[in-house]
Amino acid sequence: MTTALPFTPRKSLGQHFLCDPNVARRIVSALRAPVAAPVVEIGPGTGALTGLLAERFSSFAAIEIDKRAVEFMRKEHPGVNVWHVDVLEADFGTLSDELGGPLHVIGNLPYNVTSPILFKLLQSSGAVCEAVLLMQREVAERIVATPRTKAYGAPSVLIQLCARPELLFSVSRNVFKPKPAVESAVLRLDFDCTEVGVDRVHLTNVVRAAFSTRRKMLRNCLATWTKRGVDLPNGVGEKRAEELPPTSFVELARTLPPIDADSCS
Ligand code: SAM
Repeated sequence: MTTALPFTPRKSLGQHFLCDPNVARRIVSALRAPVAAPVVEIGPGTGALTGLLAERFSSFAAIEIDKRAVEFMRKEHPGVNVWHVDVLEADFGTLSDELGGPLHVIGNLPYNVTSPILFKLLQSSGAVCEAVLLMQREVAERIVATPRTKAYGAPSVLIQLCARPELLFSVSRNVFKPKPAVESAVLRLDFDCTEVGVDRVHLTNVVRAAFSTRRKMLRNCLATWTKRGVDLPNGVGEKRAEELPPTSFVELARTLPPIDADSCS
């Protein structure tokens, strides 16, 4: 790992470049996409995954915000379509139409925008069928957490309702340049799930309110509704959010009317 980087990493863009070809191969192999399926890489950076992906997939494109990385990619991998755009502004529906089908997304995510990227992918389910993402290990552990554990929270519920998450393997911070402060892990999300059948914004409001104070009973956390005379389903008010499995939140969201709710009294 002594090779010099082609440009200076920017902390503001979450730039920690992967410098271990074995780990890169493992991440790319985790993608279940057939060779002709559309594949999009988020943040190719210095190209640790990009060459491997371009070799393997015939319909491949990358999205990168940093102009220096875009120029480097275009020089190193002239055959790869690199979009110079903020992934949070990208329209996965249009990308999927352009590339000819549901997208398989892969990326070593910038830590600072991991959550917005995850929620963008969830909102784009339909246009995205699979994602293999390297992220902070603690975040990955929260996503796969089960009820009655410390890590179980709103992200676990919201993501598990829209995708099947699978924690694949941990990645040491020693294989990045510069070395991040935290350990990482690779997570696969399979979006091939049925619709939850309830408005997602409303569901998100209910789940966030339910988890807003973990130690409080739901009748207190959901006071925005109960104060207005809305009854909670039998026995739910005395439970804590961490006791309910993800599907129970869908039931709960069905019984509560959509109101502007992000507070827990
Ligand atoms: N894939 C490379 C690797 O594994 O070494 C780079 C990973 S680095 C952790 C994250 C990459 O995402 C950087 O190249 C960074 O410039 C890019 N990036 C950061 N924010 C972005 C955004 N909002 N949209 C697109 N790319 C972004």
